[in-house]
Amino acid sequence: MTMERKFWEEEIETMSRPNLEKLQVERLKKTVEIAMGSKFYAPIFKERGITPESIRSVEDIRRFPFTTKNDLRSTYPFGIASVPLQKVVRLHSSSGTTGNPTVILHTKKDIDEWANAMARSMFATGLRDTDIIQNTSGYGMFTGGLGIQYAAERLGALTVPAAAGNSLRQFKFIQDFGTTALHCIPSYATRLATVFREQGVDPRDTTVTRMIIGAEPHSEAQRKRIEEIWGCKAYNNFGMSEMCGPGVAIECEEQNGMHIWEDNYIVEIVDPVTLEPVPEGELGELVLTTLNREAMPLFRYRTRDLTRFLPGDCPCGRTHRRLQRFQGRSDDMMIVRGVNIFPIQIEKILMQFSELASDFLIILETSEDNDNMTVQVELAKATDDFKLLENLKREITHRLKDEILMTPKVQLVGKGVIPQSDGKAVRVKDLRNNH
Ligand code: ADP
Ligand code: ZN
Repeated sequence: MTMERKFWEEEIETMSRPNLEKLQVERLKKTVEIAMGSKFYAPIFKERGITPESIRSVEDIRRFPFTTKNDLRSTYPFGIASVPLQKVVRLHSSSGTTGNPTVILHTKKDIDEWANAMARSMFATGLRDTDIIQNTSGYGMFTGGLGIQYAAERLGALTVPAAAGNSLRQFKFIQDFGTTALHCIPSYATRLATVFREQGVDPRDTTVTRMIIGAEPHSEAQRKRIEEIWGCKAYNNFGMSEMCGPGVAIECEEQNGMHIWEDNYIVEIVDPVTLEPVPEGELGELVLTTLNREAMPLFRYRTRDLTRFLPGDCPCGRTHRRLQRFQGRSDDMMIVRGVNIFPIQIEKILMQFSELASDFLIILETSEDNDNMTVQVELAKATDDFKLLENLKREITHRLKDEILMTPKVQLVGKGVIPQSDGKAVRVKDLRNNH
């Protein structure tokens, strides 16, 4: 009898901390050597006396300056490249919702390592080569398309590159091919479920047993909801174009925090203001250094994502540290009447009401020099029971107030009223005078 394989790469995934750190140091040296070919990093290294030989421990990471999205913008498109363009085989560009787009370059080896990291991630969620994996992400500049495609093929699964949108086609493919796993952004998981119901099929009756959800912040409550409506397990997956794409960190079958692949990244969590490391376990900004990339290694990249390390060992046996579900990005934070609020706090409350659907929009406005917040949320089922609606509104307002310490105006709207975006969900519309 053969023993069932538990890991994609057992040695690396279960490596002891000292060995993992040794590997990180080795790879950091190598990465510095590669980045000496970068017009952007070479002068910085020179000024700070950073050479491969001078790297002795992981602590040496603090000798490097931070790299920011602005650095990527000001060197757009190829200014950070560490290798000649001849060695580069692909580029991805981020959506650039906030200013110039940014470009990330990949060599053949980068693509290969990326596919492996995401295949390892899929394996950790229980996906196997017997699965039929349907990818609902756009196949283009968005890394969720090709990134997942290459990884699922590496895993050996049967892949269905359905791409984004066209929900009726997604519906047909799932039924015809017996899709067992979906990759989608959380807001699309709920939207697709609605399409199933409109077609008279309960999503719970499909062959889908696993889902990889990521690319946008979502609460534990939303995950639970997705699992419930689909009758499946949903695993939180974190990636970002600058680090490769999906395949940076993922939840294992324990579903308790995302293992971040520390053979590929040095992971720091810093105070976004002082930029000093936060005490172990506290919330801060995730800062990542790539250890296994050639075309465009990045040192101490400020992700803007807010998270913390979870304490203790994971029962799955993987030794790579776990990150808590993201609170959001530091740039998502709304300051309303001086109070710091994240959209995910509002989502968390709304998801607790089964009377509500999953789409919502936070509208901020100024009236009489004051910030006002309206939370629009779609009802799961249309009703004209006025009393029921009033009670529901009162209860939602009350619970939101407990969470965000201010009283928003709650508007219950019908399905389809809130505009849907093609990609990641837009949760905030800020119409205030000073914004
Ligand atoms: P863009 O959205 O700019 O095109 P990316 O697709 O690279 O670029 O987006 C990366 C960002 O998406 C991350 O920095 C993070 O804010 C968000 N993100 C990705 N995965 C998750 C996740 N699992 N949970 C919360 N946020 C996520
Ligand atoms: Zn685990």
